[in-house]
Amino acid sequence: MSQKTIKRQTKAIHTQFARRDAYGAISMPVYNTVAYQFDDAKTMSDAFCGRIEAPDYSRVENPTVTYFESKVKAITGATHVTAFNSGMAAIASTFIALAGNGKNIVASKHLFGNTFNLITRTLARFGVEARVCNMNDVEQLRSKIDDNTCCVFLEAVSNPQLEVADLQQIAQVAHACNVPLIVDSTAIPFTETHLADFGVDIELVSSTKYVSGGATSLGGLVIDYGTVPGFHERIAYEILFNLGSYMTPHAAYMQTLGLETLDARYRVQSANALKLAKKLQKLKSIKSVNYIGLPDNPYYERAQRQFGPTGGAMLTIDLADRDACFSFLNRLQLILRATNLFDNKTLAIHPASTIFGNFTNRQLSEVDVKQTTIRLSVGLEDVNDIFKDIKQALG
Ligand SMILES: *Cc1c(COP(=O)(O)O)cnc(C)c1O
Repeated sequence: MSQKTIKRQTKAIHTQFARRDAYGAISMPVYNTVAYQFDDAKTMSDAFCGRIEAPDYSRVENPTVTYFESKVKAITGATHVTAFNSGMAAIASTFIALAGNGKNIVASKHLFGNTFNLITRTLARFGVEARVCNMNDVEQLRSKIDDNTCCVFLEAVSNPQLEVADLQQIAQVAHACNVPLIVDSTAIPFTETHLADFGVDIELVSSTKYVSGGATSLGGLVIDYGTVPGFHERIAYEILFNLGSYMTPHAAYMQTLGLETLDARYRVQSANALKLAKKLQKLKSIKSVNYIGLPDNPYYERAQRQFGPTGGAMLTIDLADRDACFSFLNRLQLILRATNLFDNKTLAIHPASTIFGNFTNRQLSEVDVKQTTIRLSVGLEDVNDIFKDIKQALG
């Protein structure tokens, strides 16, 4: 069957190896090797200079990682996919490829804590200016972009605020100024939606989350749709070589297995999250339930239009105050007190005191992270068991 006509999920299972395995292995072997021997000096030179497709050193290329990348490429239809050893490595490498002294990044004010710190602290030390923006305010966005803007950056669904940006509108504003739109799409798997259709130029994914599934390994993906001139060359011939944050073969092996079951897991976890959100809305001790799959959520229509009928596995609940959140966490019996998202197991965390633990109260309010919020990542357990645990933990 032609690779062109088969569906995304079939590609996730049946992407062929670049070379036939000597033993006909049906699971991609883990090539735990740093270097590769060449038949002669000419072939060696050709490989090093990119004239032939062959790995030479595993800091920049490895067959197990290439296989993982090729599956993501087949699923997304991207022109280039590069795997990194964490989501942060993928994000940092992308910014370092695009930015430079005197440039600015126009970024959503609702960002994953480490990404926020990367832009506002780490990159700031190298002369890159962070321009934090309310992505729901198109005029504000337009006013922040200038000739030195290297990209507009946001998260498809922000964590933990669960804000859904209007991608098409933001892409129009960015592209009118010749600026690429970079989106962290960790919260919505690329097996589910095709963000390039909405004008996204580069997707960044923490594959630690949905792709790995069982919290087996860290990983990050740069999914490049080929619309930013010179970007791929920077990543492939400069960043991978000079920064050295390529994915390891063992992680690629585990993430390849995770990718094969991603679609199935996502469907069950999303269904669980929706059922749970509806049940939680009826509990009096919960002040509010925030889930983009609930029809009364302000972002429901936009999420359905951009991401399809499933709302994902992340939701938040608000309790009376910080003490109520801590007591709730302490009483949980089944749900794990842990960070991470989209694990097979249900996880709960109080973002204000952990992921955003180094923020002052003023900074917390600027990024809309509340002391009353508990974030839940809904797993693959029986949904009634998850609900019972939450109910008993509320006291
Ligand atoms: C977890 C996460 C990251 C960072 O990914 P790591 O793999 O932990 O480095 C970045 N963005 C979002 C939205 C995340 O949830």
